[in-house]
Amino acid sequence: MEYRGFLFTKIEFRDFDIVVPFVCTCCGWCCEHYLPRFTESEVLRIAEDAHRQCDDTLRQYLEGYEKKRHGRDVRCVFLLASGLCGIHDHPLRPEVCRLYPFSFRDGDERCPPFRNHRRIVAALTANAGTLELYDSSFCPDEEFRPPSEGRAIFFWKRFIAAKPSPVLVRKYLVINELDGVPGNSLSAGHFIAQNNSGYSRQ
Ligand code: SF4
Ligand code: SF4
Repeated sequence: MEYRGFLFTKIEFRDFDIVVPFVCTCCGWCCEHYLPRFTESEVLRIAEDAHRQCDDTLRQYLEGYEKKRHGRDVRCVFLLASGLCGIHDHPLRPEVCRLYPFSFRDGDERCPPFRNHRRIVAALTANAGTLELYDSSFCPDEEFRPPSEGRAIFFWKRFIAAKPSPVLVRKYLVINELDGVPGNSLSAGHFIAQNNSGYSRQ
């Protein structure tokens, strides 16, 4: 399984794992309300790499940080008008951004898909005995132990009952290695054909 590029919660049962991917809907809320910490030299280097005016960028950043220090809501200076991160692929993009919403205290419930993520993990772990829950930010353990078919169907039913979005359904099938098997009833195509009005969007 390829975990890179995914944020997810891995649920380790005694003999197998279930992985619940986190799907960001790119609403931009987090960057509208959060200004990460950068050093002065980092701000200047990012501005230079992005062909921005270094002095202006630093001034905007320091003004923003001062407001934030006084408890005011600040949007990140690197958030573009399009709602996308202006330094998404820059090496100095902070870890707190790469791992958000998992990186924010216990996970930031103000992110709507994260609330759904929590709800789905809770549905999958209901009445579970001993298990370990990992989120990808702190335990990047790539070992994956697929469940037996019976177990996979059991958790699939719980997963679907929690009303995941279509995007999450596809990612769940792929990341749990359940999709793409000919004749497999646990496939996105099969599910969509059987449940063409049964989704609720995140
Ligand atoms: S608030 Fe959540 S869904 Fe919106 S952009 Fe941030 S991580 Fe993505
Ligand atoms: S650096 Fe990018 S991801 Fe982080 S808060 Fe700013 S705009 Fe958002």
